Amino acid sequence: MDKFLEIAGILTVLLALLAALIIVGSSGNATTLLFILPWVVTSVIGGVVLAAFGSMLTQLKAIRIAVETQVLRNGAASYRPNETSSTLLAHMKKCRECASPIRADANVCSYCGAKQT
Ligand SMILES: [Zn+2]
Repeated sequence: MDKFLEIAGILTVLLALLAALIIVGSSGNATTLLFILPWVVTSVIGGVVLAAFGSMLTQLKAIRIAVETQVLRNGAASYRPNETSSTLLAHMKKCRECASPIRADANVCSYCGAKQT
């Protein structure tokens, strides 16, 4: 869906500009540009918004993959989406190898990868 939105956005911008060129070119009258400007500008902005949304979806996908990778590394118990930061800090311990703060129930350090058993 993300790539589709990006391509649809780029196509919308290109088609709007192409249509504007053809209309102004075939009429041979510069004032025609004045009349078609409202929908040309609207279409270009719409296309840019579509492409930007598609690009944002790509970023969200990358964030989701990173979170899922983290959950897989630290175990499903480390995923508590409703926890506040203070309760999270209460469940922290230090890594045996690098002393980084990690989840108390983590089997592997998320910084250096050392086993915590
Ligand atoms: Zn470590």
